[in-house]
Amino acid sequence: MSVSPLQFPVTRTTKSKLEGIDWENLPFGKVFSDHMFVMEYADGNWQHGEILPFGPIQMHPAMSAIHYGQSIFEGMKAYRNLGKEVILFRPELNAQRFIESASRMCMPPIPETIFLEAVRQLVSLDSDWVINKQGYSLYIRPFMFATDEFVGIKPSETYKFVIICSPVGAYYSEPVKVKIEEFYTRAAVGGVGRAKAAGNYAASLYPAKLAQQAGYHQLVWTDAKTHSYIEESGTMNILFVINDKLITPSEEADTILRGTTKRTVLDLAKSWGVPIEERQVTVDEIIEAAKNQTLQDAFGAGTAATIAPISVIGFKDQQFQLPSLESRTLSLKLKNHLEGIKIGSIEDAQNWVQKVC
Ligand SMILES: *Cc1c(COP(=O)(O)O)cnc(C)c1O
Repeated sequence: MSVSPLQFPVTRTTKSKLEGIDWENLPFGKVFSDHMFVMEYADGNWQHGEILPFGPIQMHPAMSAIHYGQSIFEGMKAYRNLGKEVILFRPELNAQRFIESASRMCMPPIPETIFLEAVRQLVSLDSDWVINKQGYSLYIRPFMFATDEFVGIKPSETYKFVIICSPVGAYYSEPVKVKIEEFYTRAAVGGVGRAKAAGNYAASLYPAKLAQQAGYHQLVWTDAKTHSYIEESGTMNILFVINDKLITPSEEADTILRGTTKRTVLDLAKSWGVPIEERQVTVDEIIEAAKNQTLQDAFGAGTAATIAPISVIGFKDQQFQLPSLESRTLSLKLKNHLEGIKIGSIEDAQNWVQKVC
């Protein structure tokens, strides 16, 4: 058998950490699998990548990513299905979004095939970390950052692309209380909100902390200019059900991160004949619907939690309690259906699932 040029060399760890994992008390995002993928960009090209034992990365104190923030990431998951195979869910969407994020941040894009092969080969090597336990998965974190050793502002000429993996259990335990933000801004038109750029998350921490001090779990972001249009919820996309219609802010403005979970949810709902509106969504109409009880459901959509039901919406000095979880038939059906496709109990009619091994 000939070796594919996309076969990445592997240096195996001498001691797997798998034995010592306490699966019942798995903290989110703090435990990492045995290996990582690393690839460098230099001399105008991506060099050959390799898989190494998981471990620290050396950095120069002037490394440009730390100073000027050329740093992007992705978030995806590997699941174990009922047939004990390890699968990825629509990974090409992550690869494509990584290219878009890179372009926006003036960083060298990674060809889709290389991104996908790197993910597959790493996950395949660490496949024992994708355990066969309900709600568990292997969170995959590809990221890229600028590595020039230079304190001066310009696009870096060198970069590092790394992929690490972290086994996770169910993400959210309880429905979330959210506050509609009227002052702070996640993303402005013409800014970098559409990119999964590291700095976007740094900018969100302070307003999110204020919301937490006021008793909320997270914020609902509104448009930067008027704060009268809904954009996202925390680091998830947001969807509403009003009068049996599934309504979500359109992604035409470049202020909204184009989520794979939200896209999948819309694709599924559309295939079931659910009326869908992707358009500007005003704060006023959501508050109005909450008041007159036509707001049947509100939820966040993202890879980490899949679907995170919202229990309370806070706006100005008022709080609106949403209907009971049991009554939210559409989002429950969406969540179960998505889970079913991933674990293989429901037919994958759209070919979203890709087998790793
Ligand atoms: C990652 C992310 C999402 C969700 O995207 P998925 O592809 O569904 O995981 C939504 N909003 C923001 C701001 C994000 O960073």
